[in-house]
Amino acid sequence: MPSDSQDLLVTRFAPSPTGLLHLGNARTALLNYLAARKAGGRFILRIEDTDEARSSEDFMTALFADLHWLGLEWDEGPDIGGPHASYRQQERRAIYDEWLSRLDAAGLTYPCFCTPAELNISRKRQLAAGQPPRYAGTCRNLTQEERAERLARGLPSALRFRVPQGQTVSFVDLVHGEQRFNSDDIGDFIIRRTDGSTAFFFSNAVDDALMGVTLVLRGDDHMTNTPRQILLLQALALPIPQYAHVALLLGMDGAPLSKRHGDTSLRELRERGYLPGALRNHLARLGHSCVTDGWLDEKALIAEFDLTRLGRAAAKFDYAQLRHWQKEAVAHLSTEEFVKWIAPELPPGLDAQKQVEFVTVVRGNIELPADARAWVKVVFGKLDEFEPAALAAIREAGEGFFTEALQVIGQPGAEFKPAVKALGQATGKKGPGLFMPLRAALTGFTHGPELAPMLALLPAAEIQARLEHARRLAV
Ligand code: GLU
Repeated sequence: MPSDSQDLLVTRFAPSPTGLLHLGNARTALLNYLAARKAGGRFILRIEDTDEARSSEDFMTALFADLHWLGLEWDEGPDIGGPHASYRQQERRAIYDEWLSRLDAAGLTYPCFCTPAELNISRKRQLAAGQPPRYAGTCRNLTQEERAERLARGLPSALRFRVPQGQTVSFVDLVHGEQRFNSDDIGDFIIRRTDGSTAFFFSNAVDDALMGVTLVLRGDDHMTNTPRQILLLQALALPIPQYAHVALLLGMDGAPLSKRHGDTSLRELRERGYLPGALRNHLARLGHSCVTDGWLDEKALIAEFDLTRLGRAAAKFDYAQLRHWQKEAVAHLSTEEFVKWIAPELPPGLDAQKQVEFVTVVRGNIELPADARAWVKVVFGKLDEFEPAALAAIREAGEGFFTEALQVIGQPGAEFKPAVKALGQATGKKGPGLFMPLRAALTGFTHGPELAPMLALLPAAEIQARLEHARRLAV
């Protein structure tokens, strides 16, 4: 870790625990993690749970589990503490109150008594007049007496930040380059809600500054929030981080990723058997380009990460791509890991040796644990179903073919390869004409793992029974 803390890159992931971690947020978390690790910096996990009604303890715990599963470790966070604790915004109220009072003291806030209905009407009026909606400033210029009178009546009030007028707010976004905003286009915004909770703009920016965050890497839906947050930090004389706004994740149809694109929570994908490395490889290439096309393990992924390769183009989540990385991830599992991964699909009580033999034979044909089901049945169960193509191959080979096969294949002690050769000689068949009906008869499929090693796992009597069954089907 660099000794000069000025130079330390500090990133953070700041989710609101209002649901399960979805792919878009998982990508943001991963990019922040990689950026920090690449730079030898620090990665903070902060839980933004100021919205108490929608936040839950269960979602927070699920977040920890999902992030760990993805392979992310944080240096500071609610579960492990750190120099800037607490890392839960609900527990930081006193801090926000203190910083709010500084704004108050500087005359930069005022209570707003506008009701949601009033704000709505004002919004509609502005839209109808072709103006961008922003707070019209109704309560900005109330006199002290008017304010006191409203407060005395017990009217609920939010607290707004007095946005300075006639200023240009500019910053250099690491992805989009220089950004300029006119402060006159930004209406005075709420920093404390009517219920007393701190609004996102405020708590998020203050925490970044107090926690020493130097880079805010987040979705570009936050781009227009940034000038507001910069104005707040300037008013409080707090340090302003660098910003990088990455394109939101879209589905292949170009629409924002949602349920209708299939499973979009990490939890669901994990439960279906997707591997963390597959997700890491796909997500690290969404909105960020890698030089290497091939599989990147944890270390290589960190080495590949480069803030200058964050892209502006829409990032599309693609199941075909995920499946590609899943195949790679599966190929990179050790036998032991593979057995553990598909364990729920294996017959109960199968001994360790048999587990390893089975996995060695079928692993090339398995993308998700559920794919193992068919081969478990072929190897350890009874064959009661045939693919239509398999049935056709059996019928085409004819009864005589299987009568011959019964003579040579599945005889106790007989080796498969020489036996098939003998069958070829006896029947005059070769190539697919020889192998396909055998595969069909013995597995019920016309495709699958290499036949000889798979049959080595089957008792001779079972092989004979299957050939006999096929002979009858071929009559
Ligand atoms: N809690 C905010 C969100 O989940 C954090 C945004 C940010 O990264 O600044 O959208």
